[in-house]
Amino acid sequence: MEVITPFDPWKDPLCTCPPKYTCSPYVGCGHACIYCYISSYIPRAFAPRPKVRFIKRLLRDLRKIDHRLPISMANSSDPYTPPEERLLLTRGALQILLGRGYKVQILTKSCLVLRDLDLIRKGNCTVSITITTLDMKLACKLEPGASAPRERMKAFRVLSRAEVPCTLRLDPIIPGINDDEKELERVIKQASEAGVKHVVASTFKARPDGLKRLINAFPKQADRLQELYLERGERKKRMVWYLPRGLREEILKMVKTLVEEYGMTFATCREGLSHLNNSPTCDGTHLIPSRVRPSHHIMEYRSV
Ligand code: SF4
Repeated sequence: MEVITPFDPWKDPLCTCPPKYTCSPYVGCGHACIYCYISSYIPRAFAPRPKVRFIKRLLRDLRKIDHRLPISMANSSDPYTPPEERLLLTRGALQILLGRGYKVQILTKSCLVLRDLDLIRKGNCTVSITITTLDMKLACKLEPGASAPRERMKAFRVLSRAEVPCTLRLDPIIPGINDDEKELERVIKQASEAGVKHVVASTFKARPDGLKRLINAFPKQADRLQELYLERGERKKRMVWYLPRGLREEILKMVKTLVEEYGMTFATCREGLSHLNNSPTCDGTHLIPSRVRPSHHIMEYRSV
C-alpha cells in the first residue's frame, strides 16, 4: 500500500491506539510547529508538497485495506496544510472515503476543515483539533502557520452544532511554556462549552531538533528544559526524551481532573499512563458515528 498504511508509530510500545490506518495527502506541513517531530525524519519538513498521483494511489490502496478499520487523516502532516486550500486533495479523499462509508478521523490545527463540513456532517467522521494555548502571542510562537486558537475553538462550535463528534488534542504540554493550570482550564472549559466530547493530552517528547527550536524560541526556559529532559528525563529509543515519569503523571492527572469536571472523557497519548484513561479508545475513534453503510460502489472522484 502506498498512501494508506497501517498506523504504527515506530512500533512504540506506549501507543495504545486501536488498529487503524493513516493517510496523508501531503509530505511535510506548512504549520511549522516549533515542537513538531516530523523534521527528524522528513526532509524539508515545513515545505509541504502534495503526494504525486495521490487520488489514483488512494483508490488503488482502498482495494487492499480492511474496510472495518478507521482511516486517520493525517498523522505526519496536517491534512489542511496551506496548499490544501487550492489543491483539494484532502477534500477529494473525503469525497471518496466518506462517500463509500469508510470511517474517517480528521486531525488538524486548521479551521479550513469547516470548508468540508458538507461532506463531514454526512459521513462516518470525527474531527480532532489540537489547541495548546488560547494565548495568541504564545500560539504564534508555537504554531506559526496554524489557525488562531480562537478560530479552532470556533471550528469546534460549528462542527458540534452539525453533530460531528469532536476531540480536543491538548498536545503537547510543555513545562514552563503552556502548563499553567489556569490557562489549561481556560482551554478545557471553552472546549467543553463548544461541544467537545473527548480530550487527549500528552506532554512534549523531546527530539534533538524540536528541543533546539524550543530553546531558541524560549531562551529563558533553556536551563529548565535541558535539566528536565536531558538530565532528569527518561530517554526512549530513537533519540526521544520524556519528562520524568512523576512530573508527567502530575501534569496529566491535573488535566484529567479538569476534563472530568467539565464533563468530557479523557485519555493520554503514548505516556505509559493509560491507567488515567477513562474512554473506550485513547484517540477518540470510538466517537465515529455510523451514518453511512460501507459500500464498495465506485464513486467518481470529482474535483471541486
Ligand atoms: S500541524 Fe502537526 S505535522 Fe504540521 S507542523 Fe504542526 S505538529 Fe507538525
